[in-house]
Amino acid sequence: MRFKIFENDNSIKHIVTEKNPNAGYGFSMALHTGEDKETILSNRLKLSEYFGDDCHYATALQTHSDVVHVIDTIDDRGWESGEGLVEADALITNLPNIALTVLTADCVPILLYDPISKAIGVVHAGWRGTQQRIVAKAISKMQELYGTKASDTIVGIGPSIGGCCYEVGSEVADNFSEYPESVSTNSNGKSQLDLKSINRAQLLDSGIKSVHMEVTPICTACQSDRFFSYRKEQGCSGRFVSALAMISTP
Ligand SMILES: [Zn+2]
Repeated sequence: MRFKIFENDNSIKHIVTEKNPNAGYGFSMALHTGEDKETILSNRLKLSEYFGDDCHYATALQTHSDVVHVIDTIDDRGWESGEGLVEADALITNLPNIALTVLTADCVPILLYDPISKAIGVVHAGWRGTQQRIVAKAISKMQELYGTKASDTIVGIGPSIGGCCYEVGSEVADNFSEYPESVSTNSNGKSQLDLKSINRAQLLDSGIKSVHMEVTPICTACQSDRFFSYRKEQGCSGRFVSALAMISTP
């Protein structure tokens, strides 16, 4: 799956992988969930066909934190072996030819691109990360380090569990009382949370223009034939990857 909003710019490449029943573990990209490592690595290697052989990959050990990690050196170990990973839930860089990656199966993957200062970021936002405003913290860090202006920044909010399917208890819903339009009550009297729209609201608060945002309507639980859904598949261990890189032109 691709975002239209990024497609007219030749200086970046991005992808959101979909399930493939003919690939190992349905084309899962997760090394941390106990599947055969070589099979997962062969799935990951397929991304090179798209990003090119010169592209490196950065990944993090995602822990539902609000930690933004700066990628300022090339270190493929995390992607190629799962070793040496820093605990973080957002990655930013201004280096070309490094694909920043985020692994999800219901949580919200967010891609950030500043075409003026030339910087990118990726964010993993589940309800805990969303509660901690991790996407706003990633934008702030890009402003601080790269001079990024929110008004220039282009954002893709990827497939995640939608307000249609994400039933939560009050201990979760109560954290989002400032977003009444993103919390609904279902026929069982339980709350349904729309994390994509909360992240979108936080991005607007940060100064991102609504015309610079594309929010995919895809719900991972409704479309679990295309995307891994931890909730719908009752604790599946597969993850799909959302990745974004700036490509340096020779
Ligand atoms: Zn749904």
